[in-house]
Amino acid sequence: MKAADTVIDARWVIPIEPAGVVLEGHSIAIAGGVILAVAPKPEIDQTYAAAQRVTLPEHVLIPGLVNLHTHAAMTLLRGLADDKALMDWLRNHIWPVEAKMVSPDFVYDGTLIACAEMLRGGITCFSDMYFFGEDAARASVKAGLRAAIGMIAIEFPSAYAADAHDYLAKGLAMRDSLRDEPLLSFAMAPHAPYTVSDATLEQIATYAAELDLPIHVHLHETLDEIAESVKTCGVRPLERLRRLGLLGPGLIAVHAVHLEDGEIDLLAQHGCSVAHCPSSNLKLASGIAPVGGMLARGVNTGIGTDGAASNNRLDMLGETRLAALLAKGVTRDPTVVPAHTALHMATLAGAKALGLDGRIGSLVPGKHADIAAIDLAGLEVSPCYDPASQVIYAAGPQHVTHVWVDGKLRVAGRELVDLDTRELQLKATHWRDKIRTLDAAIQ
Ligand SMILES: [Zn+2]
Repeated sequence: MKAADTVIDARWVIPIEPAGVVLEGHSIAIAGGVILAVAPKPEIDQTYAAAQRVTLPEHVLIPGLVNLHTHAAMTLLRGLADDKALMDWLRNHIWPVEAKMVSPDFVYDGTLIACAEMLRGGITCFSDMYFFGEDAARASVKAGLRAAIGMIAIEFPSAYAADAHDYLAKGLAMRDSLRDEPLLSFAMAPHAPYTVSDATLEQIATYAAELDLPIHVHLHETLDEIAESVKTCGVRPLERLRRLGLLGPGLIAVHAVHLEDGEIDLLAQHGCSVAHCPSSNLKLASGIAPVGGMLARGVNTGIGTDGAASNNRLDMLGETRLAALLAKGVTRDPTVVPAHTALHMATLAGAKALGLDGRIGSLVPGKHADIAAIDLAGLEVSPCYDPASQVIYAAGPQHVTHVWVDGKLRVAGRELVDLDTRELQLKATHWRDKIRTLDAAIQ
């Protein structure tokens, strides 16, 4: 018998690779944080002696969800200024509050609260863009989530950095100090074409190539952004990024709401990824990204929740359901984004965008054991004809019972194993009181 740290017995496993498969009566053996085998239960029983056994008789196991775009610390701004246009929301509420309030403590507490919500919803990896990345990284390590921390760059000053040069220097120093943390990876994160200069974008392209890092950037979110770019730069933002050398397999275009057919082709030709954030795009009335067209042309498309200030949930199951439904409604084609495709977008596509698809995103031997278990016994998810359909169209975060990251159990019986929810609740209330007073004074 071979030794395994954990064996999970489940009613179903959706491994994502091979695509479209639902395994029944299978078990997963894990050791050292890595998946040793996914096989029928009798075979695992004959081969592995497990130190710990978890039996989930009515559950489906899926790869942990990959939240491809968020600003985790912004959970502290959830519901602060709803129902505003993007620029009113940013200029008159979010940016002034951030200017006065954002600090290492704000980022640590906000990110920790976000991590708790994400873990309970089956998210095991998130791609973050915010100030004080080191504190976001500390919080994600404390929570035990995998995180791709964005090294943010923006031209204007904040409590974090003085100018673009300073942002980049701080980001690079952060990466140097944290690069040995096993659950962390990094990305260059120019905020958006309209907040970052040509010179800075060129520098970012150089760093990304030298350090083999993805480039995580808001892009083509609104029609105003595109019109402004045409006016000031003579070209649309995507074309500007192309000229500056940012297009390639590492580019993660966040939102990509407004794309002409030729621009979808350009993303496909360069192997770029898209982080589709449908709730944020709807809430800020930005529009609906052409996901059907992107998938048809082979653009790697993952899903992100965006920050809690513009969603207002960090719920990847809900986000993925919305992505599937919107794509059907917009194209008037119900075969666009079927359940297995939606699950692929929420897992392996996100991992690929981050350059992590060799390590996570599917349940196959050799990959890290990032796994979410979803209980399909409840009334809202009964009867179950097809577990993939049930996960995408019927289940929500409340049905996620167990979550492992790198083989470690982080959620068990719907409860966080390592984090104290009561303490996080007190932190949230503390920050709400401070921020509400500040926002009222600004108005
Ligand atoms: Zn965003």
